[in-house]
Amino acid sequence: QKYVYDFSEGNKDLKDLLGGKGANLAEMNNLGLPVPPGFTITTEACQAYLATGREPDGLAGQIEAHLESLERAMGKRLGDPQDPLLVSVRSGAKFSMPGMMETVLNVGLNDQSVVGLSAQAGGNDRFAWDSYRRLIQMFGKTVCEVPGEEFEHALDDAKRAKGTQNDLDLDADDLRGLVGAYKKIFLKHTGREFPQQPREQLDLAIRAVFESWNAERAVLYRRQERIPADLGTAVNVVTMVFGNLGPDSGTGVAFTRDPASGAQGIYGDYLANAQGEDVVAGIRNTVPLQELEQLDKTSYDELLGIMARLEEHYKDLCDIEFTIERGKLWMLQTRVGKRTAAAAFVIAGQLVDEGLIDLDEALHRVNGAQLAQLMFPRFQLDHEFQPVAKGIGASPGAASGTVVFTSARAVELAAEGKSVILVRRETNPDDLNGMIAAKGILTSRGGKTSHAAVVARGMGKTCVSGADEIEVNVPAKRFTVAGQTVNEGDVVSIDGTTGKVYLGEVPVMPSEVVQYFEGSLDPEHIDNALVRAVHRIMTHADGKRRLAVRTNADTGADAARARRFGAEGIGLCRTEHMFLGDRRELVERLILARAEGEREAALAALLPLQRADFEEIFREMDGLPVTVRLIDPPLHEFLPPLEQLAVNVAVAQERGEDVAKEEALLAAVRRMHEENPMLGLRGVRLGLVIPGLFAMQVRAIAEAAVSCARGGGVAKPEIMVPLVGAVQELETVRAEAEKIIAEVVGDSGVEVLIGTMIEVPRAALTAGQIAEAAEFFSFGTNDLTQMAWGFSRDDVEGAFFWRYLELGIFGISPFESMDRDGVGRLVRIAAEEGRAARPGLKLGICGEHGGDPDSVHFFHEVGLDYVSCSPFRVPVARLEAGRAVV
Ligand code: PEP
Ligand code: MG
Repeated sequence: QKYVYDFSEGNKDLKDLLGGKGANLAEMNNLGLPVPPGFTITTEACQAYLATGREPDGLAGQIEAHLESLERAMGKRLGDPQDPLLVSVRSGAKFSMPGMMETVLNVGLNDQSVVGLSAQAGGNDRFAWDSYRRLIQMFGKTVCEVPGEEFEHALDDAKRAKGTQNDLDLDADDLRGLVGAYKKIFLKHTGREFPQQPREQLDLAIRAVFESWNAERAVLYRRQERIPADLGTAVNVVTMVFGNLGPDSGTGVAFTRDPASGAQGIYGDYLANAQGEDVVAGIRNTVPLQELEQLDKTSYDELLGIMARLEEHYKDLCDIEFTIERGKLWMLQTRVGKRTAAAAFVIAGQLVDEGLIDLDEALHRVNGAQLAQLMFPRFQLDHEFQPVAKGIGASPGAASGTVVFTSARAVELAAEGKSVILVRRETNPDDLNGMIAAKGILTSRGGKTSHAAVVARGMGKTCVSGADEIEVNVPAKRFTVAGQTVNEGDVVSIDGTTGKVYLGEVPVMPSEVVQYFEGSLDPEHIDNALVRAVHRIMTHADGKRRLAVRTNADTGADAARARRFGAEGIGLCRTEHMFLGDRRELVERLILARAEGEREAALAALLPLQRADFEEIFREMDGLPVTVRLIDPPLHEFLPPLEQLAVNVAVAQERGEDVAKEEALLAAVRRMHEENPMLGLRGVRLGLVIPGLFAMQVRAIAEAAVSCARGGGVAKPEIMVPLVGAVQELETVRAEAEKIIAEVVGDSGVEVLIGTMIEVPRAALTAGQIAEAAEFFSFGTNDLTQMAWGFSRDDVEGAFFWRYLELGIFGISPFESMDRDGVGRLVRIAAEEGRAARPGLKLGICGEHGGDPDSVHFFHEVGLDYVSCSPFRVPVARLEAGRAVV
């Protein structure tokens, strides 16, 4: 098996095998761009290593062969004492995981080759010893788990001894001394000398990169970003080029467009006389990329040319990392760049305008999660609020919250339900837990490409980075800004779009995208690139999609809003809300009724109320189908809780009050008490047990539809029976309903469909029979998931899902995103067998999954007719239904 690919053997489409970094290095190499020579060890090698705990057979030999050809090409040998070839060993998974995994630079340096390196660098001793101490530091920390702070402290000691705070003031002798100190640290922690054999260094570094796939922070990041746990990482072995050879060298990062707004221009950061990760880590302050023009015009022009070429080639925003070694430009990485949700839409629109992509491709380039993010509100600012600092708008949104300074405190307060803003000088991968818990992130250092910025953008979390007016003092739990002190526990507000920071809580205003959906912003007549792009892409999605999108709505107001958002009907009207509030008393009478007459009176009182509810909904959904579900939850939910009632009765009896009525209620509650109400007397079972209940609802629906038609409207009611598991249940309800409908509808022209939810596994498995009695199916994926897994949907999330997620039993809660293999299989079976029994059977879904992007794609694949989701998710479902087609 081939485990190692030279850069000339790969290309950008081999990300599964070579990882993102390796595939794109190969692509750049093939484009003739200046890429340092190297090779990539495949993700398959990593998977084999992780499965067995040792390198797969043949890997060592293949590495040897590729190393030899690399040495031939460079005319140097790895770690040669006179003229050493040095390499970097870099992780690179299929999906970018910024800062999550390991990199070791300067592999090949040892006590001899450090002298050779100095000679080759024109007698630059300082550079050679600095490179060597970096190797020991990175190798020690990454490969041998030596605590990183020990190296940091030794470096601080060296600077203190020199009376400086700047690394660059340390000379060759200082650094040679530091190498000695580092080696002692290494020996102390590992019990062995720092390895002098170059090939051993290489092999250990490769193994460490493999293992870093399962580092705690990488596991956490993958879970957050829903990246599968079994992909493994590729390893890139790349010839070292040096940005720290002097003022004519340097390193930087750049974007071909602004990743926050999508605007065209030159965006990037540059750091002269620096190596590798200095820029990304945000440790020293960079200069804007434009300043490179003054420093090194030739490299600057070449870089701009390459960036234009990359955009043209990838037809997308690219980000790059580059190094200049003594005036020679090298490309170290490129990839299609991460971007904010707004930029994703704006850039997709721009690329269509520029003729680089078509609208189908534009639809691919955005997604429902981004659209959902754009529907969040933003700050409403008036004169009262003046920013106290301005950093970089690193990840958009508006967040207010309590200031905390550590990841642990963020997690603690978030668990108490507080909104927190995590304030740090800069973040590092260890802060991940706190970043997940926080509402927003504020750092005083680092640019748009710092760890905080990249990770926050990935999570869709508000972030302001590099707000350097802020002096953060973590041990004292406070920061100072503009002469004021902000302590842990105080409230601040941060705007991730403008980068502004405010003291106190700033009120928020609605999103423009929501205003557009609501119809109060006309995309043709306003100068707003985002709204125009959203409009254009949504219009295209609507033209493409096969799935209809309905909404779950129980009130006229919700129905109206969802219709403005593009809903094409109601897929689920839960009638139980109509039994709450001041109607509870009527429901109580119904439940307590002993005699037929009492029950009938209670139902008769409920009928006009229900009819009015349905009339309002039919009016709002005029001309569109409305699926009304007959009452589902167990009736005791409408009665007072057992314990409380028992106490009240006992107290009243003590006082000698007349409690006959309460006693009757208590007896009824006792009678109806169930250990497992979710599996008990609910749904169709209620309809079969309580005479007249479903009949009353059916009559209310039919009468409302007729009254709507008489008023000139068009009502299209679809009556849905919940919790059916056997066709006989449905047939019984249907027979009664049909009689009532025929009687009410007469010659009004109103047509009423009768169908069922498929939410009990047995219903899915006998769908062929059930379809004989149903004109439509709507999958209740909430209950179907609950009953297929045997997970109580009301209890599991906090109780044990965390453990399931930790163990990777599933990557995301099956109540959030369809479990395709299990619950999805039930849906597939029911859809196929239902349609086989009744061609043209209408199929929909109305569980929470109807608004989940990945699930929408699944429902498209299975061939459903529509999805139904909450009003706010309707635009997301429209977009994803379009994306499922292109
Ligand atoms: C379902 O079970 O998926 C459903 C839509 O019904 P409910 O959530 O009301 O039980
Ligand atoms: Mg249900």
